[in-house]
Amino acid sequence: MKFEIACRTLGSMDISRRVASLKPSVTIAFMNRAKTMKAAGKDVLSFAAGEPDFDTPQPIKDAAIKAMQAGQTKYMPTFGDPETRSVLAKKLREENCIPGLTGDDITISSGGKHSLFNLCQCLFDDVKPGEQPMEAVIPVPAWVSYAPLVELAGGKVVEVPTTVETGFKASAAQIKAAITPRTRLLILNSPSNPCGTMYSPDELKAIGRVCAEAAASIAPNLIILSDELYEKITYGGIPHFSIGSMPEVAERTITMNGLSKAYGMTGWRIGYTGMPGAFGRKFTQAMSAYQGQQTTNLPAFLYPAIRTAILECGPQVEVMRQAFAKRAELINRLLGTLPGVTTARATGAFYAFPNVSAHFGKTSKGGRVIKSAMDMSEALLEENLVAFVPGEDFGGCGGQHVRISFACSEKQIEAGIGRFGEFLNGLR
Ligand code: PLP
Repeated sequence: MKFEIACRTLGSMDISRRVASLKPSVTIAFMNRAKTMKAAGKDVLSFAAGEPDFDTPQPIKDAAIKAMQAGQTKYMPTFGDPETRSVLAKKLREENCIPGLTGDDITISSGGKHSLFNLCQCLFDDVKPGEQPMEAVIPVPAWVSYAPLVELAGGKVVEVPTTVETGFKASAAQIKAAITPRTRLLILNSPSNPCGTMYSPDELKAIGRVCAEAAASIAPNLIILSDELYEKITYGGIPHFSIGSMPEVAERTITMNGLSKAYGMTGWRIGYTGMPGAFGRKFTQAMSAYQGQQTTNLPAFLYPAIRTAILECGPQVEVMRQAFAKRAELINRLLGTLPGVTTARATGAFYAFPNVSAHFGKTSKGGRVIKSAMDMSEALLEENLVAFVPGEDFGGCGGQHVRISFACSEKQIEAGIGRFGEFLNGLR
């Protein structure tokens, strides 16, 4: 009897405040709704998932299978074998021109998101009573996970607003104005999720110079995080540039990358960082200590697969890049024909992020009043069976936008944007 009473009260216990306050991902919510509707037999066209529709190249799979069959199934050092770390360091040195990196400056985690979680834990502290939190400066709209991961680590987000008119890029002057003595992190993401746009090398160099000046004066603790997950998916004529290659900020920059997007490997969960210099070594050791009490290493048989991807799969990546380039051209053209839709031309990643706010205040054919991107995405999914992601959770002007992931066939893009056009033309 006592036992039953004790069990009944279990339901009223609380989950930690830290976790209870986390918002569920709107991207996953729309992706799952589209999947459920599809499973129920509805002809839904989904543009919600931030995931390439290409399978992992066969040589990468073969490398993992071979390693597993050869018995590479045991614990490993936290960041894997020295050979894999050296391959990643060489990639960052030679392709991204980041000076001075060795294998000892590389961390390898279970996906870019895991790298980001861990690095925020290593850079931010819980705030003691009476203390101000350290800050992360983030140009917005930005990937939905940055803010929660910064906040979970005790940091405070400082948003730098951007607009569709400037290609969603923050200027060096805006970044300068946002940096304070409490700035710990500046997060840059080019090519961008959700915006699909890229900073030019000159724009990044101007931001790098501003950061170097601020670090030498008011913000000595400033670190730049350059999230380069979409580095390989570029097609708009803007070359990818790693801000960590600038001597002024090289030793203040964590370059983060992963295999999810470029190699069709979202489910493998592989992310890595590189940071040269004295603080970089300290940072890498901290990441090792933290991950060592957490997930330890990646599954052992993934390390040969990482080497195969980086060293041998350039041609397969190029085939995917060319497909994304054709899709981008198509979607840029089709969105340009829609009434009341303003778009920045997609030049990288696989997203379009049009401003649809000219339609707010209207009513859909099905009688739904459209007051927000969320309302529009709901109505579009229910009435025209097209799943976009509403932009509210990406921050800044995101609430006026919808995100369209074009990691799907050209046929689906034509059909989906066609339905979107019908939906917009039906608004009254
Ligand atoms: N950074 C950006 C900008 C992303 O869009 C994503 C995934 O959507 C990630 C990082 C994390 O990717 P993963 O954890 O699959 O490596």
